[in-house]
Amino acid sequence: MDYNSIRRKTRKIRVGNIFIGGDAPIAIQSMTNTDTHDKKATLEQVLSLESKGCDVVRITVPDIDAVETIPYLKHNGVTAPIVADIHFDYRIAIKCAEAGVDKIRINPGNIGSDDRVYEVVKACKPAGIPIRIGVNSGSLEKDILARHGAPTAEALCESAMYHASLLEKYDFNDIVISIKASNPYEMIRANRRLATLCDYPLHLGVTEAGSKSMGSIKSAIGIGALLSDGIGDTVRVSLTDKPEEEIEAARNIFNALGIKGQSGMDIVSCPTCGRTKIDLISLVAEFERRAKEEGITSMPIKVALMGCVVNGPGEAREADIGIAGGIGEGLLFKKGQTVRKIKEDRLVDELIEEIKRL
Ligand code: SF4
Repeated sequence: MDYNSIRRKTRKIRVGNIFIGGDAPIAIQSMTNTDTHDKKATLEQVLSLESKGCDVVRITVPDIDAVETIPYLKHNGVTAPIVADIHFDYRIAIKCAEAGVDKIRINPGNIGSDDRVYEVVKACKPAGIPIRIGVNSGSLEKDILARHGAPTAEALCESAMYHASLLEKYDFNDIVISIKASNPYEMIRANRRLATLCDYPLHLGVTEAGSKSMGSIKSAIGIGALLSDGIGDTVRVSLTDKPEEEIEAARNIFNALGIKGQSGMDIVSCPTCGRTKIDLISLVAEFERRAKEEGITSMPIKVALMGCVVNGPGEAREADIGIAGGIGEGLLFKKGQTVRKIKEDRLVDELIEEIKRL
């Protein structure tokens, strides 16, 4: 199935050298966790994220001094669009726009009077800088919260549309909206509702999702459910881990949904059972490690690592290539057809060599 055929029709917005929304590929985002004032450390992390396939990098800009990091990144090889994350101070937003940032994340309802919102619009609009409105279940406006009694999907959408209306008032529509909650179910409900209320591109994420393990699961539920509805134009998997891990987790969600052309290598493996006569658990871990080391994980192929020759090749018929374990050896197969036998200690090496030849 062509994933684009189910995608929600959204407004296409330019963010630096990429687009978000419309028919643009779903962008993967992450955020640096360095002190933004530390230009070198921030540059290093942004470049590392870029090399892992991060399409958009967000940096926090807590004060005017930190704005200087934006041109520093731009002059030192960063090509990925940079998003400045700003809370409350509209003057920082204006400075970031002047410094050449590609997108600003600020909630217009939090920066004070209409005049201030207008000042931000005046700085962003001529420069083609979009604004992301980020509504979070933990920081909902008091009056909206009081009206709804809890940060419900309805309350979150009301807040998002309120912030958007403050920009629309000045004919500003280069808007991306995110509604995040730490509960994936609430986040799904809110985004499904928001998708019916506007045509702005949506940025998906489960906030405070947790560690790599738990956070990936919660994000896969939240982001995955929405993407499978065709909702979502950019994603961030938030993990309490190295930001680079967020890119891999996002890719894995794309892979699991078969969003073609955007995902890298899809590694499938069986759960093992009484038929397994090979150390498949170590084999899979070793293959994943080596595939990353060899830089082949971006190849858009399906690789299967199966525990037995009886069911393995058949169960993994959809795979482009794979191995099925025997006793002290394994079978290499391509598209369900056996190619040759390989000794167990050579399985990973030869599989990788074969993949490189594809
Ligand atoms: Fe068991 Fe073989 Fe299926 Fe793996 S592929 S779960 S080893 S039957």
